[in-house]
Amino acid sequence: MSNINPQTTEWQALDSAHFFHPFTDHNALAKKGARVIVKADNVYIWDSEGNKILDAMSGLWCVNAGYGQKSIADAAFKQMNTLPFYNSFFQTTNPPAVELAKLLIDVAPKQANPFTHVFFTSSGSEGNDTVLRTIRRYWDVKGQKQRKTVISRWNAYHGSTVAGASLGGMKFMHEHGDLPIPGIYHIDQPYHYENARLPADQGGGFEDKAAFGLRIAQQLEAKILELGADTVAAFIGEPIQGAGGVIIPPDSYWPEIQRICNKYGILLCSDEVICGFGRTGQWFGCETMGYEPDMITFAKGVTSGYIPLGGVLVSEKVATVMHEGGEFGHGYTYSGHPVACAVGLENVALIRDQKMIETVRNVTGPRLKAGFEKLAQHPLVGLAECKGLMGGMVLVKNKATHEMFDADKGVGMICRGHCFSNGLIMRAVGDRMIIAPPLVMTEAQIDELLAVITVCLDATWQDVQARGWV
Ligand code: PMP
Repeated sequence: MSNINPQTTEWQALDSAHFFHPFTDHNALAKKGARVIVKADNVYIWDSEGNKILDAMSGLWCVNAGYGQKSIADAAFKQMNTLPFYNSFFQTTNPPAVELAKLLIDVAPKQANPFTHVFFTSSGSEGNDTVLRTIRRYWDVKGQKQRKTVISRWNAYHGSTVAGASLGGMKFMHEHGDLPIPGIYHIDQPYHYENARLPADQGGGFEDKAAFGLRIAQQLEAKILELGADTVAAFIGEPIQGAGGVIIPPDSYWPEIQRICNKYGILLCSDEVICGFGRTGQWFGCETMGYEPDMITFAKGVTSGYIPLGGVLVSEKVATVMHEGGEFGHGYTYSGHPVACAVGLENVALIRDQKMIETVRNVTGPRLKAGFEKLAQHPLVGLAECKGLMGGMVLVKNKATHEMFDADKGVGMICRGHCFSNGLIMRAVGDRMIIAPPLVMTEAQIDELLAVITVCLDATWQDVQARGWV
């Protein structure tokens, strides 16, 4: 990055002197200098050098309503001037928290075991801590104290607190902190493209996608039986894994997970921190993927990231037991924060009233899908798939055999570098390139996005050819 603006260098120096970033190699960053983002509007952000960048990641999967929604800022300003804070510990409540809880129940999935209650947190990680504590409290109150175990998946992301990182299946996160905590087990992720290769003695090739989905889901049943069915409390999963690389499970997967949870009477928890609030073309990802959870974790899209807020939607089945249990020793200073809830109210109303989710489902989602089908023809792309406005592309060495590049070549990072140079934020998870643009993205902006992606894929393809990697 060439730094023309002296303020940029000053900010970068202060940044490396004092600011510990999440998930960052600070020595490497100090050499380069952080990109300083100074403003945003609609689906674009600007850095301190004046570069306009198309943000195909919605910040960090959160700015669903797009940047620059003035009514959201106004709602925060008004609430800060009326009641900036009050707690909800000591038999008190506040209007924005009550009204947002009601609105969230209105937009929650309609199912046989309906959602009736909301627990508010400030983040997705805290939401999953709350889920874990609620699961264990639920079974205690029901008199089944031996049910403590929660089953999750490898390569899942459920946050970065001790509980969140334990529930998650990121091995490097486990290594940084002696995780997971006891009582959390992981099964394989439903990732067909790289994991469904058949052994040579079965003829090679790839397992049928539906059969693969069923087989991987059935690992849950095997794990339940291995651990002892009466000790397992719950299963947790993201409808579509986000941080793991936008892994869209086969259609056969979730209904089978649901069947197994029902069979053994264990709670099914859906982490919708990314998939919630319209990302997949429905309000919640479980509606898109076809299952009915007992609890839903949410964050990010509930305020479009304008202010921190998260929480847990609790179904009647769980809420009834929690009520029977009397006081639950759990809660946060900011549970039901009036300003965060006022922002949430305005944001969710905007998403609803401007029919953003219908547009994703019927207009922009299908346009992105058609574009991805074309991108899948690119010589570097083994798979390009999306659901609603989240998508992933796998950069491969050999399209026929699904052979990947050696990880140390960093082909995904090369592609990401071309994206930055061409004014596009696209994330690389290994060699999976992923996007999750704001739900307000128009058809013209989808076309703009697809055109820039094509330029970046072409540039990356030239690089890998020039280096003799294909
Ligand atoms: N769950 C999922 C599915 C997520 O994607 C994330 C964040 N990317 C979290 C939980 C954690 O949320 P937070 O960073 O707000 O704690």
